[in-house]
Amino acid sequence: MVDFSIPSPIQNLVTRIHQFLEDVVIPLEAHADEDPQDGLPLERLKIAREQAKAAGLWCPTMPADLGGMGLSITEIIPVFEAAGRSLLGPLVMGCAAPDEGNLHLLHLFASAEQRERYLKPLAAGEAFSAFSMTEPAPGVGSDPSMLRTTAHRDGNQWVINGHKWWSTNATQADFLIIMARTDDSGGKSSATLFLAPMDTPGIELVRNIPHLGGPDFGGHGEIRFNGLRLGDDAVLGDVGSGFALVQARLGPARLTHCMRWTGIAQRALEIAARYANTREAFGTTLGGHQAIQWMLADSATELHAGRLMMQHCAWLIETGKDAKQEMSMCKVHVAETVNRVLDRAIQICGGLGISRDLPLARWYESARAFRIYDGASEVHRMVVARRILKTYRKA
Ligand SMILES: Cc1cc2nc3c(=O)[nH]c(=O)nc-3n(C[C@H](O)[C@H](O)[C@H](O)COP(=O)(O)OP(=O)(O)OC[C@H]3O[C@@H](n4cnc5c(N)ncnc54)[C@H](O)[C@@H]3O)c2cc1C
Repeated sequence: MVDFSIPSPIQNLVTRIHQFLEDVVIPLEAHADEDPQDGLPLERLKIAREQAKAAGLWCPTMPADLGGMGLSITEIIPVFEAAGRSLLGPLVMGCAAPDEGNLHLLHLFASAEQRERYLKPLAAGEAFSAFSMTEPAPGVGSDPSMLRTTAHRDGNQWVINGHKWWSTNATQADFLIIMARTDDSGGKSSATLFLAPMDTPGIELVRNIPHLGGPDFGGHGEIRFNGLRLGDDAVLGDVGSGFALVQARLGPARLTHCMRWTGIAQRALEIAARYANTREAFGTTLGGHQAIQWMLADSATELHAGRLMMQHCAWLIETGKDAKQEMSMCKVHVAETVNRVLDRAIQICGGLGISRDLPLARWYESARAFRIYDGASEVHRMVVARRILKTYRKA
């Protein structure tokens, strides 16, 4: 029999996170746009992170020897949802993108020296990181084979040249993980990941990209690599393992995005339900009208389906099974559900929903990108459909 119960230690943890969000994180939302570049001022974040550590709510995914909570991917589903009830929750608790995905990647593949230099400070919340893969056209975007940034050998060094954008966290990052082409075959082993401190000569932060929503902490950087010179000790994993490492990072990272955004969508549903229970129109509360009831029912149903999909994906990952198809389905479903739930919540709250008196407008703007990053919905649908076609071609 499939067991859907949440183990009581995890349930207790979720209760504590809810309380921590009420006491520490949600009050911080008033300061979320205070800094024109980074939104939440770094000093405020540092104080809140110390409070998270003191409460034993720091870094759910990292093991205890790195200062984390050592939770498995199935255990973090309700934990990340609880943290994700505020856009600031994951940032305060050390489980926000892109650091959380980068921690996962470094934990799996960093050398002993790279663990000391990059993983340990990142896990301790003493450093920030960015993941630099996407390039402006004609470089890599949805299609990984279009990678243009190159790393050429010169003596015992690598020389990196290229142009990236949408490197999230770039304004705060202490180091970058850079994807570059190390051979011209275009094959599966033609890319390599490199680690580089942000202040290395040859790294030019061109700008923090202005965008819908935000400002987001750490921004989203456009970066040029102008003859960036790195040694062999900068290679993460093996030369030529870049695509495999990106898959190892992106799979779970897609799922953790789904978990965090489900938290925001759930909070939006609660805000809409409270308004529908109290606001009156045409002789009854809004909740007395079927049109409103159906919006609430559809949102709750879609969120529930998303949670079950996440549980299934996490179980596939934890038991070492291929989760690619289910992850794509889950990412499309949750990204589109979150957008619909926020849209309905705004509709139910009317003018109040559009106003900045509620957080719904801010969330609605920020959630739009979720249908694009970590694979646009169309690309995931393409991946799913290709597998279906292949299966029935064989049959
Ligand atoms: C807020 C945000 C944060 C990000 N953070 C990072 C980061 O930290 N590091 C990083 O490297 N990148 C990051 N990205 C980049 C992100 O991963 C890319 O935007 C995404 O992979 C899509 O690439 P693209 O923007 O080049 O879109 P394009 O490849 O130009 O595609 C544009 C659109 O075309 C459509 N499309 C593409 N392929 C197909 C197809 N096969 N069939 C039908 N339609 C298709 C999709 O609708 C897609 O949205 C971030 C992006 C955003 C918006």
